[in-house]
Amino acid sequence: MSWAQLDRLITEAIIRFDPERAEAERQKAQEHRFCDVSEVDEHGNAVITAVVDIADGHDFNTAIAREAEVRGRLGDDSSLDARRAQAVGAIARRDLALDLLTTDETTGEITVRSAGRKVLMDLHITDTTLRGENPVGRWGDKPVTTAQIKQWLRSRETTSIIIRPVINLADCIPVDSYEIPDRHKHRVRSRRHTCSFPNCTTPAVKCDIDHEIPHRKGGPTCPCNLHPLCRRHHRAKTFSEWRYLSLTPGHFLWTSPHGRLFLVGPGGTRALDPPRAIEP
Ligand SMILES: [Zn+2]
Ligand SMILES: [Zn+2]
Repeated sequence: MSWAQLDRLITEAIIRFDPERAEAERQKAQEHRFCDVSEVDEHGNAVITAVVDIADGHDFNTAIAREAEVRGRLGDDSSLDARRAQAVGAIARRDLALDLLTTDETTGEITVRSAGRKVLMDLHITDTTLRGENPVGRWGDKPVTTAQIKQWLRSRETTSIIIRPVINLADCIPVDSYEIPDRHKHRVRSRRHTCSFPNCTTPAVKCDIDHEIPHRKGGPTCPCNLHPLCRRHHRAKTFSEWRYLSLTPGHFLWTSPHGRLFLVGPGGTRALDPPRAIEP
């Protein structure tokens, strides 16, 4: 008989003949359960470690196996391990999209609360990073590769990521109103002479002035948050999935509804990547 077999026999005997001790040990073991997500590494990876109830572990494994399988069938050709890792995020996000139902026990009234989802990533990037001249950006004080940042920006699953551009303080003269004072319009149009949309040449003097972060979401009426957009492209930003981020004065990173990236600067527009298949 091996030591492991002997060990199992002893455990079984304790459960059988000393159920109180077995229960105490079970409760003690429960206190050692945990689930932890590590900090990000330079590749944008985090390590998840957990000690969980076996039933929970089994359910979790079944759920990620199923999600990984579906991804494979839908044409994701990455490895099973990679698909299982993606499955963890997909499952977590699905949960965040679910409404939280609570019932008032006395009145029977049901309240629905949507957890929503908001990831705040303090990314530090410049146009040199995105042009490939500087391969490193930062998340907080942690370096991350440009490729990883591009992937985050492109991901449709994470559209609610908020990226705060590093603003030029010299350009900051906010006013409280939504209405843009003429001196601000003048400053904005002299900084950028055309519409800020990729490949658009409509002169800035004929453009609307767009609040990059909408005023109702706390975006200031301040040159650092104001950019010229022609009527057509102003509407594209308001009513479709076109999004932009100003990097440095006069430089913009646009994301198309299909996740393509465009860098717009005084010298023109540059598509950052060839088109690629959209993930399922
Ligand atoms: Zn400002
Ligand atoms: Zn335009």
